[in-house]
Amino acid sequence: MKILVLNCGSSSVKYQFFDLDKNLALCKGLVDRIGMAGAVLAHSRYDGEKINLVAEILDHTMAIEYVVAILMSKNHGVIATQKDIDAVGHRVVHGGETFSGSIKITDDVIRVLHENIGLAPLHNPPNIKGIQAVTRLLPDTPQVGVFDTAFHSNMPHKAFLYGIPYELYKKHKIRRYGFHGTSHRFVSASAASMMNKDISELKIVTAHLGNGCSMAAVDRGKSIDTTMGFTPLEGLLMGTRSGDMDPSVILYIMGKEELTSSEANTLLNKHSGLTGISGESSDMRDIITSMKEGHKRSRYAFEVFCYRIKKYIGAYAAAMGGLDALVFTGGIGENSADVRAEVCKDLGFLGLEIDGKKNDSREDDISAPNSRVKVFRISTDEELVIARDTQEIVKGN
Ligand code: AMP
Repeated sequence: MKILVLNCGSSSVKYQFFDLDKNLALCKGLVDRIGMAGAVLAHSRYDGEKINLVAEILDHTMAIEYVVAILMSKNHGVIATQKDIDAVGHRVVHGGETFSGSIKITDDVIRVLHENIGLAPLHNPPNIKGIQAVTRLLPDTPQVGVFDTAFHSNMPHKAFLYGIPYELYKKHKIRRYGFHGTSHRFVSASAASMMNKDISELKIVTAHLGNGCSMAAVDRGKSIDTTMGFTPLEGLLMGTRSGDMDPSVILYIMGKEELTSSEANTLLNKHSGLTGISGESSDMRDIITSMKEGHKRSRYAFEVFCYRIKKYIGAYAAAMGGLDALVFTGGIGENSADVRAEVCKDLGFLGLEIDGKKNDSREDDISAPNSRVKVFRISTDEELVIARDTQEIVKGN
C-alpha cells in the first residue's frame, strides 16, 4: 500500500510518501511559508534527487495540490497517477477525550475536531484544513487521523486530574492530555524489540527531547503518565517554553509587569525555557557551546534542563514500581551526548549506568555492560507510525 502522510502546521505542510509493501519512504518534503510571499517547496526522493520550488502558495489546498503534483512529476516524482495514493494519514495534534486511537476520517470526526479547536487553537485548525484540502483534491481516497494525544488517553485519573474543582474538568475538559504520543509509542516499541522482549513485560521511560520536550512512563506498553499536560507547556524545560512552575508565578508576573493574558502566554511559550534562562538561544547546540565557553546563564539553562529530566526518571520509576529501559529521542535526545551523560549521572542507585564511549560514539544501546536498566538512543519516526496506522485502519475497513 502507498500512503501519503501529512503534517499540516499553520503555515507549512510536511509530507512523506511511503510504499509500505516495500518498506520504503519514496520521498518527503516540506511546503513552507504558505500564504506568504515566496513560499518554498523542498522535495527529496529516496534516490537523493532533490528540488526546491518557489511559488505563490496561498493556502493549504494549494500546498497539497503542489505536493500531489510533485509526487506525479515525470522528473522528480514517484507515481504515475493520483490513484497510486491508496490513503492519506494526517498527524492531528489534539484528539481531546474522544479519540483514544487512530481513526478513519468521516464527517463526524471532522465535527469533533472542530469542537476540540479550543483545546488546541494553534494546531487543530491547520490539521482540519489539511483534511478538507485532501477531501477536495482526492475525494475517493480514504483518510486517517493519528492523534498526538491518543497514546496517553488511558492515563489513570490520578495522573490526569489537576487539583482544581472537578466541575471545571467536566465543564471545560481541563485535564492533562499529553502530547508526542506517536513518538513515545514508536520508541518504546523499538526499545522492546531491541531488548528482544515483549513490551507487555517492560517498564520504560521515554524522553522525547526536541524543540518541544516530554517524557512518558510506558508501563507494559501503555502510557500511564506523561510530563506535558492540558497544553504542551507543562513539564520539562524546553527551547522557549517554561515547563513546570508554580501557577502563582504567572499571576504575580502579570501584576508586576502589567501583562495581558495573551502577553503572559507569549512570555511562557516563546521567551522562557532555555532562551529565557540563558538569554542566548533556544538551541541546545548553542547553549552547550556557550556553556563550555564559560557563560554562566547557559550553564544554568543546561543544568535545569537535565535536572528536570533526571527528576522525572525517578518519579516515573516510582510510578511504575520499577524501570527496565530509558530511551532518549528527538533532536536533543538523539544527538546530544552531553545531555544524556548529565541526565544519567549518579543514577547507579536505580541500576542505570551509561557507557561513556558508546554514548559519545552514538550507538543505539548506550548502556554500560553492568547496567541493569538498558539505555537507548533511538531515532523517532512519527511519519512511519502514521503510515502504518493508516494502512491498518484502511485495510480493516
Ligand atoms: P527536533 O524538534 O526534534 O527537530 O529537535 C530540534 C532541536 O534539537 C534543536 O533545537 C537543537 O536544540 C537540538 N539538536 C540538534 N542537534 C543537536 C546536537 N548535535 N546537539 C545538541 N542538540 C541538538
